[in-house]
Amino acid sequence: MKKEYLLSPGPTPVPTDALLSMARPIFHHRTPQYQALFKEVNEGLKYVFQTNNDVLTFASSGTGAMEASVVNFLSPQDKALVVRGGKFGERFAEICEAYGVEVIAIDVQWGNPVDPELIERSLLENKGIKAVYTTLCETSTGVLNDIEAISKIVSRYDEAILVVDAISGLGADDLRTDDWKIDVVVSGSQKGLMIPPGLAFFSVSQKGWAHVDSARCPRFYFDLKSAKKAYDNNDTPWTPAISLVIALSESLKIIKKETLANIFLRHRRLADATRRAVEALGLELFAKAPSNAVTAVQVPQGIDGKNLVKLMRDKYGVTIAGGQGELKGKTFRIAHLGYMVEFDVIVAIAALEMALKDSGYGFSPGAGLVAAQEAFVK
Ligand SMILES: *Cc1c(COP(=O)(O)O)cnc(C)c1O
Repeated sequence: MKKEYLLSPGPTPVPTDALLSMARPIFHHRTPQYQALFKEVNEGLKYVFQTNNDVLTFASSGTGAMEASVVNFLSPQDKALVVRGGKFGERFAEICEAYGVEVIAIDVQWGNPVDPELIERSLLENKGIKAVYTTLCETSTGVLNDIEAISKIVSRYDEAILVVDAISGLGADDLRTDDWKIDVVVSGSQKGLMIPPGLAFFSVSQKGWAHVDSARCPRFYFDLKSAKKAYDNNDTPWTPAISLVIALSESLKIIKKETLANIFLRHRRLADATRRAVEALGLELFAKAPSNAVTAVQVPQGIDGKNLVKLMRDKYGVTIAGGQGELKGKTFRIAHLGYMVEFDVIVAIAALEMALKDSGYGFSPGAGLVAAQEAFVK
């Protein structure tokens, strides 16, 4: 028998109440029953997004909301400033290019956060930038960007909106949508929100809405105006992913009960213990400014990084994530995101130690576990 542990930065484990709720009989969405659910879920999303803006939901993975954040605000030939500090920053640039939007890229060395000054400089040097795209937690590198500082800069430019990919960061790293004046925040269901993949979320500020009318990129399914028109009547333009929305209402109840403040503290505690454990094993952290959602670690010299992740999964039943893009085989990533507690970190570190031992890496067995336990017992 093998028991499987899912410790990846998406999809993440789903709490039992949310899982079971998806087995409830399906009901029709053009009903008062669905309207009540929809209303409740939308209020919960506002709490998690820390906003009074509407939070719209699409039946897609997170990338759908990323695409929506391009096509609803820009026209072909418009200029967009894109922070490319990892796989997901690159994705924003690829979406822009697919629609003929001109990309002005800030290429950040992977593992580093973007220097907000570079954004200021680009906005000054390139007149007419309509949108700035960046990530809260760049999941591919484990880096947390300073969104507050970035937003202070972008919010001074009337013609530019700030779009933040908070797909993995939401509910792990603090993100104050309204206080920090962030125009568009994008997220997905299978990370900090603790339900399966399949829903994407999207909050839009007043300033953001002002850009929608002039945007001429083609769009239909992800058209914000259709979504908003329906939303104002507690409705959705197309068939919603009813069972996932039911699950979301359960996970939002769990979130409200714990409170966002305590959720951030828990993620910090888990992240801190993971980092200390990894360093106690003589390994190096990859991110210079680490997010509390995921810890990216450099694979040590002489060890096969892909095989290490495979051993953890196939031999020990513990799924973490390998490196992405140019980091394939060079890093691995342990998530402490969503429905995770102290013992998920203990499991991850124990399996890591065992797989490192199998791989012939020299370290003092148990050192990581001791460090993690010391971080927890205070
Ligand atoms: C997971 C993730 C995505 C991709 O979302 P999908 O749900 O796979 O489409 C985008 N950005 C970030 C930062 C992510 O962590």
